[in-house]
Amino acid sequence: MRFYITIMALLLSSVVASPIARVNNRDRLESEAAIKKRFPMKGPGDGAGVAGITGREWIELSFKLHDICACLGFGSEEQKKQLIWRRLEGTVRMTFGLMEPSHGSDATFIKTKATRAVKDGVEGWTINGMKMWQSNQHKATHCIVFARTSGNPGNAIGITAFFVPAKAEGVKVLSYEWTFNMPTDLATVSFTNIFVPDSAIFGPINNGLAIAQSFVHENRIRQAASSLGATVFCITESVKYARQRKPFGEELAKNQAIQFPLVELAMQAEMLRLLIRKTAWEMDRMEQKEVERNISDKVSMCNYWANRLCTQAADRAIQVHGGIGYSRHKPFEHIYRHHRRYRITEDSEEIQMRKVAAYLFGYIGLKKEAFSKL
Ligand SMILES: Cc1cc2nc3c(=O)[nH]c(=O)nc-3n(C[C@H](O)[C@H](O)[C@H](O)COP(=O)(O)OP(=O)(O)OC[C@H]3O[C@@H](n4cnc5c(N)ncnc54)[C@H](O)[C@@H]3O)c2cc1C
Repeated sequence: MRFYITIMALLLSSVVASPIARVNNRDRLESEAAIKKRFPMKGPGDGAGVAGITGREWIELSFKLHDICACLGFGSEEQKKQLIWRRLEGTVRMTFGLMEPSHGSDATFIKTKATRAVKDGVEGWTINGMKMWQSNQHKATHCIVFARTSGNPGNAIGITAFFVPAKAEGVKVLSYEWTFNMPTDLATVSFTNIFVPDSAIFGPINNGLAIAQSFVHENRIRQAASSLGATVFCITESVKYARQRKPFGEELAKNQAIQFPLVELAMQAEMLRLLIRKTAWEMDRMEQKEVERNISDKVSMCNYWANRLCTQAADRAIQVHGGIGYSRHKPFEHIYRHHRRYRITEDSEEIQMRKVAAYLFGYIGLKKEAFSKL
């Protein structure tokens, strides 16, 4: 059913080995015309072919699909009708508002609250709180805002997601963050006394975190495959350069100080590829719930190791290339910056390790029952 995961892992890690090509490709695909051409849907509300997007086009549009997939899986019929087609057209853009200035990995502790309210005879909710790291805020028409609607801080149940118009009165962009010496579209946004009707609820009430959970595995393995592709690119370019560059009149590649670090990276890339492909292959043969129960730790291993390896490979490529490697004549500093964020964003590497540990020690997963009898 989800054979695309295997295909995605294979292609991202091998065919799409040039990150620069990938970046340009993504820019190209930003254009609405390109999207329409690729997804020739007939009109608003016509969901035909969108499932196919996740199969055939995942590779190139991977960053663009989270909200569409979430909307397909959790949106009401009206939300699907209103948002999906327009999202593909580019006239609707959404942020994903889970994290806050004081809560990230511990998202179950978010402080944003939604309380029951009635406005002009319409039943709904009043939202108050703050979100940070809101990607695409500058272009957003809608903010997906996660807020506590019941329960206590720390409970996964009791959090609900809402669609909030980005330009609604009470939505204020406080700042756009600079990261790694670059300006970004990552905003800190406050939400003050925003009224939304019941129809703005996205997904199950009090179980909004299920939305985030639903695509986390696909996203993590996609990210892992992408990092592996970039790793291989860094190694390959470094090897080529080391064979050509001749400081002191000798090929740079003749030095073991140059060879060995690249050998280590190459070995790890080979091993990682096998784990990514095996895990992707297994994911294709399981439903979401089984993935969570059986191999979520393997997905985390792939994600953690690939993202880290990629930054190590980019760092090594910069070193092998010397000054030119540090410059923008070469793509390595870009690769480093881009993949460095992966070690934080799709749950940070410590949180991935925490997941692996929970499986290893039998707190969750297949070993749980056996360990409970010890
Ligand atoms: C480029 C970028 C884009 C982002 N885009 C979005 C977005 O669109 N929407 C959104 O909602 N969020 C977004 N985020 C936020 C991102 O999801 C969080 O930064 C991430 O989840 C980590 O949360 P935090 O920054 O609050 O770190 P914290 O949770 O405060 O953690 C700080 C450090 O402590 C570690 N840590 C935490 N708990 C433990 C533990 N139990 N054991 C060991 N170590 C631990 C973490 O791994 C981390 O290294 C983005 C972040 C970045 C950098």
